[in-house]
Amino acid sequence: MPELPEVEVVRRGLERWTTGRTIACAEVLHPRSVRRHEAGPADFAARLKGRTMLTPRRRGKYMWIPLDGESGGPPPRNGSGGPGEAMLAHLGMSGQLLVGEPDREREKHLRVRIVFDDGGHDLRFVDQRTFGHLMVTDLVPDAFSAEALVPEPIVHIAADPLEDAFDAETFFRALRRRRTGIKRALLDQSLISGVGNIYADEALWRARLHWARPTDTMTRAEATRVLEAARDVMGAALAVGGTSFDSLYVNVNGESGYFERSLDAYGRRDEPCRRCGTPIRRDEFMNRSSYSCPVCQPRPRRARHQGSGT
Ligand SMILES: [Zn+2]
Repeated sequence: MPELPEVEVVRRGLERWTTGRTIACAEVLHPRSVRRHEAGPADFAARLKGRTMLTPRRRGKYMWIPLDGESGGPPPRNGSGGPGEAMLAHLGMSGQLLVGEPDREREKHLRVRIVFDDGGHDLRFVDQRTFGHLMVTDLVPDAFSAEALVPEPIVHIAADPLEDAFDAETFFRALRRRRTGIKRALLDQSLISGVGNIYADEALWRARLHWARPTDTMTRAEATRVLEAARDVMGAALAVGGTSFDSLYVNVNGESGYFERSLDAYGRRDEPCRRCGTPIRRDEFMNRSSYSCPVCQPRPRRARHQGSGT
């Protein structure tokens, strides 16, 4: 499943390949891939036709491409005079955005195809499991940053730690108010976005914090440590083109992402901790797993036991 660094790799690929290009037409081959576009596939295609793609943006695992020019569809619900529209994309479990020669063979799981008026490379949304989606939506002022605009459906999603809009002090204060465990807080999109299960485990291992540590006992120094660890581990993944834990994931040019650096905690059950040699433990966590070092990340005396028998 693509996480923040993979989505950022895709965003950068799109920035290079689609910015400034005008859409000739969009073809929806599977309605499920535009299910969140409430006015339906025909309206989705009409809104894209004739629009120019501007610089892609990202928040967490969401990516959007602001659209310039007049919409080919009926006026948006909030009327005219708004800040504009964007095509919002979420890759879900297996979504890929591929750029390539327009006359190449169609992929088996091709869901949406966007053709440009310059006759150059097309943009394809390929998604085997169809958990991903595309939609055209209004842009609204961002709640987390004064200047920015964000797509209306994700206005409730907090900034991610790699964005300029992310405010560490706001995050810390919100953390202290919650009665939850630190890992659950890291996965809560209303507090911080873009940190998935893998990066949460890696950040907590680096910060030497147990996943069930109650957030209302966190010090500012500990919160800073976990934030810096999250930035470091996502930055490292980004530097090598994103992690690829899922063979279905490929980047914007169709090449598999490749993660050369091995992980320190995630997926390393019973393997020695790279700091102290103690076997890494695996706990049940919200129907998934948490990997941690029993020595470097001791269980807090007062743990928050959500979703777990530990
Ligand atoms: Zn250790």
